[in-house]
Amino acid sequence: MQCIFCDIVERKEKAEILFEDENIISFLDINPFNVGHSLVIPKTHYENFLDVPNDLFGEIFSVVQQLTKGVVHGLQADGYNILSNNGRAAGQSVFHCHFHIIPRFETDGYKFKMDLKKYGNGEMNLIAEKIKSAILF
Ligand code: AMP
Ligand code: ZN
Repeated sequence: MQCIFCDIVERKEKAEILFEDENIISFLDINPFNVGHSLVIPKTHYENFLDVPNDLFGEIFSVVQQLTKGVVHGLQADGYNILSNNGRAAGQSVFHCHFHIIPRFETDGYKFKMDLKKYGNGEMNLIAEKIKSAILF
């Protein structure tokens, strides 16, 4: 199976690495929304968010937060987006779970807001019930 992020982990592909420990690696996105746009990934190949073992998230999000501090303070960003695209429908293009940290600047001109939908009568409660009945702890 060909995976560009696994290749980065294995040093078969070059990357500007920012941080690495036993389980996690972070590097600059090659096509940034803004310079400094960074990625945090588990070193093990998991296709998306739901495939990652729950007990790895403490570590992953701790690295995401530390990296975000570095990006924001190092580049004097005015704000930041943290996001993860999962599934083709959501825009995922590399099928190895990852988190984007995107520094934002008052002047960068991006608008991440999309056209928002409205709930019909009673629909909000119906949708909440569907989600709640599918949550497994
Ligand atoms: P997504 O579209 O959410 O799956 O994000 C994948 C990201 O990986 C994109 O923003 C790409 O620019 C980035 N990317 C793809 N190949 C590389 C690479 N070799 N090094 C660094 N970033 C990459
Ligand atoms: Zn991979």
